[in-house]
Formats: sequence, structure tokens, C-alpha cells
Amino acid sequence: MDFLSFLNNSITPYHAIKNSVNMLLEQGFQELTFQKIWHLEPSKSYFIKQGPTTVFAFRMPQKISTKLRFKLAMAHSDFPTLKVTPRSTFYKSGVQLVHSEVYGSPLYHSWLDRDLGCAGLLVYEKDGQMQNRLVQSLKKFNIPQLAVHLQRNVNQEGIKVDPQKGLDVFWSSNQEDSLESWLQQELAPGEDLLDYDIQFFDAQPASYGGVNEEWIYSGRLDNLASCHAAIKALLKSVPAPDSICGACLFNHEEIGSETREGARGPFLKAVLAQILESLQLPNINLAGILENSFAISMDMAHALHPSYPEKHDIRHAPSLGGGVVLKQNAQKRYATDVFSSATFKRLCRNAGVSFQDFVSRNDMPCGSTIGPSIAASLGIPTVDVGEPMLSMHSIREMSASKDHLEMILLIVALFKEI
Ligand SMILES: [Zn+2]
Repeated sequence: MDFLSFLNNSITPYHAIKNSVNMLLEQGFQELTFQKIWHLEPSKSYFIKQGPTTVFAFRMPQKISTKLRFKLAMAHSDFPTLKVTPRSTFYKSGVQLVHSEVYGSPLYHSWLDRDLGCAGLLVYEKDGQMQNRLVQSLKKFNIPQLAVHLQRNVNQEGIKVDPQKGLDVFWSSNQEDSLESWLQQELAPGEDLLDYDIQFFDAQPASYGGVNEEWIYSGRLDNLASCHAAIKALLKSVPAPDSICGACLFNHEEIGSETREGARGPFLKAVLAQILESLQLPNINLAGILENSFAISMDMAHALHPSYPEKHDIRHAPSLGGGVVLKQNAQKRYATDVFSSATFKRLCRNAGVSFQDFVSRNDMPCGSTIGPSIAASLGIPTVDVGEPMLSMHSIREMSASKDHLEMILLIVALFKEI
């Protein structure tokens, strides 16, 4: 699936993982589960899911010995959004409104006056069995903002959105219509709705922009760009001897990763241990293998906005189109250390990938991502990198197509290099 199609179709983390799995299945990856014994074969490709929002896909090398190691590319599949609450629909001043709970840290005002879509997962009972499936409304919704005449100082004071009442979505002019009644219509006869996880998303399709079409405008670039690069690179790669190459997409980074499907959960370690157990290699243990392994944690990075240069340390201000961003932080909000940084630079040099440094200002708190969680729980050498972007956590973000290609090249180099 090409990048823009992936962005357009990955409207929730459920859809992002489904699209990723479809790409894997098309190339012959086989699904594994923890419930069954694994018989892994050289040169074969596999994947395993943790629920519907986290997946680990990997390729076996042609030759496996006790020198085995893992090479991992990791990203998060979630993004800031508005999640529909239980009993969400209410009637007020002639409008049916849908109330949501804020997920992660969106730029609230960017959600106003946008065409919004609505999608997610239904869990229902049929013939005594609990089942689930993805749903998407074909309708558009909106959160209109207040006119300038009713807030005369808005351009001087900025838009302040109260997330409790200012992000309710206009659903219908008819009091009979509710979000729940739409969900009921999605069910077939004999299906009994048990619960749902529904969210709103930017319905405007992704597009190329700029005179040379060098930029990408889209919702959810953070971090679907990394998910797409990880899966694409895995599909293109033939692992080096003794290297098991894997791409792992986790949910829940935007809310701290400490969940069953998050990077701080048990999933990845359990999978790696299961791979080792199934190979039955003599005199080998997971900690020893992980010491010799390498992980690239991929998450988007802040590019310099030319109108606000003071927000960056000017010596460490990545630009759109300037290449993959290497993230460093002395407080270890990023997992990068001197060795993982050196390994990254060597990979870039050998593969002809351009890169740029990011260090945040001392007077500006630094963000974080899944790299530190993975490095701390697995003990695997890890580097934090990302594609530079603007408008991070806006409903519509901006990045450069060149950087996406560079990121794919980097991950291919990780998988191929001996
Ligand atoms: Zn991110």
C-alpha cells in the first residue's frame, strides 16, 4: 500500500494494524499465536498480534546459529483523537451532540471547522460467541467554532477551547438520531451489541503540496509515517545471516505506553522469548542475544518552523526534507546513547542516508517516545530517530516526502547490514 493510501485508510489504530497486516499477508507472512507451538523455518516470514492494535512482524534469515541477533524497527500506531464516551449523544438547543473524551494531547483548536469522520471497533455477540469488527460512518461531522463577532479579542488572545464543552461534535439536527442508533444499524440480524470503541478523525484525504509537491499534508502523520516506513522496509528486506529482522507497532504511546498493547507491556519480550524457545539453539539466552541486537525507535520529530526559530536550539534545528532526525537527550527522554548513535551514523553513512541532529533547548521540556521503554525493559541497544514534521498533534500535520523515503532506506539498511 502506498504512503498516502495508508494514511487515508488508517483512520484509527485498529485500521492501521489491519492495513499493515494486509500488506504482510500479501507478501506471504504467516500468522502466529501464543496458543499454538511455533515451528519457525529459515527464510520464512511471520507476524503475531496483541489484540487488534499491536503487531510484531519478522523475517527469518537463511542461516541461524548461536550468533543470532534481533534487528528491530519500532513505532506507535496511535495518535491524538476524540474518543466517543458511553451514552455520548445528547440534545441541546436543537442539535444532537456527541461528547468525547480527549485521547493524548491534540491541538484542540485544529479540530474546529474540519470535516470529521467517525470510525472504530464494535464488539458484539452472535450465536453465543463474542466477535468484533471495524466500522466507519460514511457521513461527515463538524465542531463549528464561535464567530469572531462573538469573541472580539480572539485574534489578540488566541483561541481557548474548553475540552469539556468545546469539542462536542455536531451529529444531527434530528433528536431521533444518535451515535448508538447508527451503531445498531451497523449490526446484522442476530448480532447483539456489547460495547464499542469509536473515535473521530480528520476526513480530508492526505495530499502532496508545495510547488514541487515536496511536502505531505495529512492527519495522523505522527506516527503512521513511521508505521508505514517500518512495514515497507521489512517487506523490501532480505535479512542478513543470523539476523532476525522485525517491525513492531505498539498502541498507546500517546498516553504513556503502560498498557497491555503498549511498549511498556509484556508483548515484545514474550514474542522474542518464544522465538528463541522455538529455535532450540544450544547455550543461548535472551539477555545475551539482546546485548548483541539493535533497535531503532521511530517517532516523528519537530522540524524548525521558519516563523518561530526561537523555539529550537539553532544548532540542533532539523529542517523538513533534511533527512532522518537523530534524537538525543541528556535526561534520557530518548534512548539514544553514544554507541547506538554511532551505530546509527554508520548505517546512514553506508546506506547514503542523510541525517540531522535534534537536541531540545535547556529551557524547553523534551518529549519522549517508546525508545526508552523498550531499552529499559529489554536491555537492547536502542536509538531514537524520526522524520521531521510541522504541526505535530494538529488534526492535519505536515512532513516531507523525501524524509519518508530516507527513513525507509535507513530501516532497510538496518535489516540488511551484517
Ligand atoms: Zn509520536
